[in-house]
Amino acid sequence: MFVGHYAASLALKRFEKRASLGVLFLAVQFVDIVFFPLVLLGVERLNIVEKFTQSTHFELEYMPYTHSLVAFLVWSGLAYALFRWVIVKSHSVAVIVALAVMSHWLLDVIVHTPDMPLWNDTSLKLGLGLWNNAIATYVLEAVLLLAGLCLYMRSTKAVTRTGKYGMGIFVVLLLLINIANIFGPLRDDSKMDLAISVLTAYFLFAAVAFWLDKKRSQRRRKSLQVYVCIWPS
Ligand SMILES: [Zn+2]
Repeated sequence: MFVGHYAASLALKRFEKRASLGVLFLAVQFVDIVFFPLVLLGVERLNIVEKFTQSTHFELEYMPYTHSLVAFLVWSGLAYALFRWVIVKSHSVAVIVALAVMSHWLLDVIVHTPDMPLWNDTSLKLGLGLWNNAIATYVLEAVLLLAGLCLYMRSTKAVTRTGKYGMGIFVVLLLLINIANIFGPLRDDSKMDLAISVLTAYFLFAAVAFWLDKKRSQRRRKSLQVYVCIWPS
């Protein structure tokens, strides 16, 4: 999954205003940010196979250190520890960042073919295989991202004109980029080029999210707030 992961960032932000949206954008892609360098180092393995599934050009052969269930628990635990005791020193921020890291597993399991091990390569591998249906993959990611946007917009309010429209425009751009990602031809057949383009996208998206989030402020939470998704201010 690609842009759909950002649904978790946008949804989680409402629970803790001190959690930076830029950090949450990086946290939901954290294991992929680690995965590509590990592939280049030969520690984990990915083969570029055109249309391996309807939605991807990758055969994800070996990735126990980033995409196993145990790895997710370890990375989430480390993220918690980092934000609890080193960076922000807040329990609630640390929980939100750890949940963002963990959310990647849940969403990846839905789309991956059975290539996500419980712990090592010989253990059971999980993956419901939605990638085999490109339209269903695209629709799921779009619905998740729009739902995340809706929650984010309802829990924050614009403080500038950029803040009013910026995040909505950004999400539309992400949805357009995902058309090329899912339905487009294979562009990078070198792993280095692939790693550079994916990592550049992840950091660029996080920077844009960080910047746009500064243009909005958190709304006061009411105890029983019902979110109705009309276009918010
Ligand atoms: Zn992943």
